[in-house]
Amino acid sequence: MKHLRERDEVDDQSLQKYHKLAERIDKRDRVILKNEEEREVFEEVFDRKTLMVLYDLANNNAFSYLNGVISSGKEARVYWGVTSGGRDVAVKIYLVSSSDYKRRLQYVIGDPRFNKIKRDSRGIAEIWARKEFINLKQSAAAGVSAPKPITFQGNVVVMEFIGVEGIPAPRLLECKIERKDYTRIVKAMELIYQEAELVHSDLSEYNVLKYEDKLVIIDFGSAVSTRHPSAEEFLKRDVTNVNRFFEKKGVSTIENEKLLTMIRGVKKEVEFGADYQDTT
Ligand code: ATP
Ligand code: MN
Repeated sequence: MKHLRERDEVDDQSLQKYHKLAERIDKRDRVILKNEEEREVFEEVFDRKTLMVLYDLANNNAFSYLNGVISSGKEARVYWGVTSGGRDVAVKIYLVSSSDYKRRLQYVIGDPRFNKIKRDSRGIAEIWARKEFINLKQSAAAGVSAPKPITFQGNVVVMEFIGVEGIPAPRLLECKIERKDYTRIVKAMELIYQEAELVHSDLSEYNVLKYEDKLVIIDFGSAVSTRHPSAEEFLKRDVTNVNRFFEKKGVSTIENEKLLTMIRGVKKEVEFGADYQDTT
């Protein structure tokens, strides 16, 4: 398989091939292309390099075609992809055109897992995709309920689809809330921190899906290592947001400070101590 994205010049044959892919998206994605304004949106997402990445991913069987847009956020678009075997996947494309890309730097700089950082908008979109993929890997290994990562390339991440026939499972904010949802989210926060050694950093009712009576945490692009200098600040914000939502829903919550202590756990504090001595 040729890695098109690594070349500056693309030969005619390859160009034709990825234009074919663009046509394929074009034909199926009627909603996005029904007028001029939406054609601009199409171009904003599918710039030349992103199309090459999608072409590569399709050639590597990450998916066979894209079957419509699920979500158009400010920083990313999520597409419903279908594999040649008929399995649904979620294809998240980080926008290279996002004007807000500098905001993301604070979630990368200081994370010991990422030291080579290209600070232009494409560089950051690519780091973000790679970071989401790695975060999902660490979360899966830790047993966190989150989409299973499939692959990533450039500014695109492919992951397990949470939902049925292209319709994503509802977000927590759209669901009837029960006490056990709170217990589950607390458990998830403990696993993410103690086992995956991450802080989600954007945890809220918008980034939790309810699927088959389970909670599935999504949107791991902003998650940082627990060793990131702002990890504690991000964790406090997550706890505050989660507690605020459940309180609003009439669920009695664990007091912020107590919940923070629970999430941090006892075991890791000891390990951090040992680790600290190692580096001095
Ligand atoms: P950002 O905060 O970086 O702009 P975002 O909020 O646009 O990202 P996500 O929260 O990851 O991106 O996804 C947006 C929406 O897309 C979700 O609310 C959900 O409806 C859908 N979605 C995302 N990932 C999946 C998935 N794995 N399976 C099904 N639907 C998904
Ligand atoms: Mn989100």
